[in-house]
Amino acid sequence: MFQFSYLKAKSLADAAALAKTNPDAKLMSGGMTLLPTLKQGLAQPSHLIDIGGLSELSGIEVKGDTLIIGAATRHYDVASSAAVKKAIPALAYLASLIGDPQVRNRGTLGGSVANNDPAADYPAAVLALNAKIITNRREIAAEDFFQGMFATALEEGEIIVKIAFPLPKHAAYEKFPHPASGYAMAGVFIAETTSGVRVAVTGAGPGVFRWSDAEAALAKGLKAGVLDKLKVAADDLNEDFHATREYRANLVQVMGKRALQKLVA
Ligand SMILES: Cc1cc2nc3c(=O)[nH]c(=O)nc-3n(C[C@H](O)[C@H](O)[C@H](O)COP(=O)(O)OP(=O)(O)OC[C@H]3O[C@@H](n4cnc5c(N)ncnc54)[C@H](O)[C@@H]3O)c2cc1C
Repeated sequence: MFQFSYLKAKSLADAAALAKTNPDAKLMSGGMTLLPTLKQGLAQPSHLIDIGGLSELSGIEVKGDTLIIGAATRHYDVASSAAVKKAIPALAYLASLIGDPQVRNRGTLGGSVANNDPAADYPAAVLALNAKIITNRREIAAEDFFQGMFATALEEGEIIVKIAFPLPKHAAYEKFPHPASGYAMAGVFIAETTSGVRVAVTGAGPGVFRWSDAEAALAKGLKAGVLDKLKVAADDLNEDFHATREYRANLVQVMGKRALQKLVA
């Protein structure tokens, strides 16, 4: 076991100052990913800066045509929010599929997006909905934010404050969960936005990515059967003892078809 200090941030400014004076510290939100990482000795921060309860990172509101969710909002609160269910029901549904009740009651939107696990659910929604990640320093477009396995555009000590989701015309998410953890073996989020149809895939590759062939096919209209003949190239997908590349490629197509089915039903 290694020694570290626990610091409870009093405000966003306090958290930023603590991160600046302790460059080997780690921010902690729900701790659902960070604490197991510490237990396994995969990270050895000097301090944990707890940002989980900060009021600046909380809240769910619809402003005009945008749904804004605070980074410290727990998965359970996104899944059960009447505002989210009304504005982007697919996002509430996605949150309801994450892990198990314990994980949903501790894990947070900001923690999940900052961690950018290749099998996490939220990155698919953030990318497909063309959301903005708002930090204590700047706004980052989803397109620029996700940079491959566990890699993001976040700089040292930068804190996600909230995420702004433009309201889509329609959206749907379907995933094939890993039977033990619930993480996505493949998850497909389809969003019909004001600037066209966007399709994002999580779980199958080394990081979330847009499925451009599906976007091109759906640009002609959200119609049943449009994805039936699309083949997904397996070459760049993940392969491990859970599934081969080819199996994941097939799952992407099946999840895409199921999500589309919801949109045309
Ligand atoms: C058993 C189990 C099953 C799971 N199943 C799923 C699943 O099905 N789908 C899924 O998507 N996820 C799943 N997860 C992950 C879960 O969603 C986590 O809650 C999430 O990945 C991390 O959120 P957190 O709030 O716990 O972050 P933490 O563990 O507190 O932090 C994770 C990382 O993000 C950083 N961080 C946290 N908040 C911020 C912020 N505001 N700004 C900048 N950096 C920040 C931390 O420094 C750390 O590096 C599962 C986890 C477990 C343990």
